[in-house]
Amino acid sequence: MKKILLATCLLAAAQLFAQDSTGVLVGRTIGPLPYLEYGEGDDRLGGAKMGYLDTNVVMKVVDSLKTDYKVQLSKNHFAWLPKANFRPDTGTHLRPYYLTSSWRVYGDDKYDYVTVALDARLPYRSMHQVSPSRIVVDVFGATSNTNWITQLLTAKEIKNVYYEQLEDDVFRVIIELKHKQHWGHFIYYAGNRLTVRIRRQPSKPKLKNLLIAIDAGHGGSNTGAAGVSSKIKEKDYTLLFAKQLEKALKRKNAQVFMTRTGDVDLTMIDRTLMIREQQPDILISIHLNSSANANIKGTSTYYRYIGFRPLSQTILKRMLELDLDNFGNIGAFNFALSGPTEYPNCLVEVAFLSNTEDEKRILDPKFHKATAKKICKGIEDWLKAVRKNRR
Ligand SMILES: [Zn+2]
Repeated sequence: MKKILLATCLLAAAQLFAQDSTGVLVGRTIGPLPYLEYGEGDDRLGGAKMGYLDTNVVMKVVDSLKTDYKVQLSKNHFAWLPKANFRPDTGTHLRPYYLTSSWRVYGDDKYDYVTVALDARLPYRSMHQVSPSRIVVDVFGATSNTNWITQLLTAKEIKNVYYEQLEDDVFRVIIELKHKQHWGHFIYYAGNRLTVRIRRQPSKPKLKNLLIAIDAGHGGSNTGAAGVSSKIKEKDYTLLFAKQLEKALKRKNAQVFMTRTGDVDLTMIDRTLMIREQQPDILISIHLNSSANANIKGTSTYYRYIGFRPLSQTILKRMLELDLDNFGNIGAFNFALSGPTEYPNCLVEVAFLSNTEDEKRILDPKFHKATAKKICKGIEDWLKAVRKNRR
């Protein structure tokens, strides 16, 4: 027994050694929407995501499991990258350390920007903080040599920027916002310059001044859930709800962008890229829920980032006026369209197709209109709160 244990230990040590000396694979991110996951956890919607990355970001692969590579972000930080998002690059040689350089804070006619000069396109992650509202960006593998932060008056939404060297090789960029509400940010590289593009709060946050994207869930060969007794398809009914919401919003003079208006196949990547191109002010996704337990019913709203939570709360509050059960307001949700940070977004799971009472409501065209009105009211409530909390 002891001998076997010793042999196993030696073997493991030998493998580790082999990996350290020859097993490291260096490359870059590729594909339309590369992303990192925290671990190898998995559920219906995939593992918990650290966030999306730009392409051409340097990646150091240290292990491989099924469809993912384990990548080393810094001395103490690791993540998982889909193999489809990795391209080996023999031309990239890892340096013992990477430095940050000067920053620039400025605005154009639409956005504010913070740019951080780096030695290479290093991996990063970002998160929201609320009360006070801040965007926090961690740059992995980077050590500060930042001694200069130019701040121009053209920046309108950014209150303050500063940094913290969190670990020897984890550099944290902190961006304080003027407004309480997060309106979204987008991170990309311009050359080796990390750029955080920040969406400003609209000067008049009213429906008539906003572009609202609506995503009707599923479509084409992706039929979604089925009605427990009617066998109706989720994809057909999400579209009916979405079209009513479009009407309700247009009646309030909002601009609307629909990811689909017919029964078509769209992947999550298609939808995300379509919406990104439109640069909407907010996104509403519409789905119908389903459970193996036929007794479960009710309405629910979902968000991923804490700064986008308020919208999902005001919508849920209005939805409950339809006499639906409260299935809850759910955070940290791993739905693909809740992943982008560019605009506030909310997923509405109107009711359960797997419950006969909820299903009856879902089948009723009057309920589609009523739901659209409530979502519309929920957005208006949120905008009212935004106007009140201007600073
Ligand atoms: Zn669905």
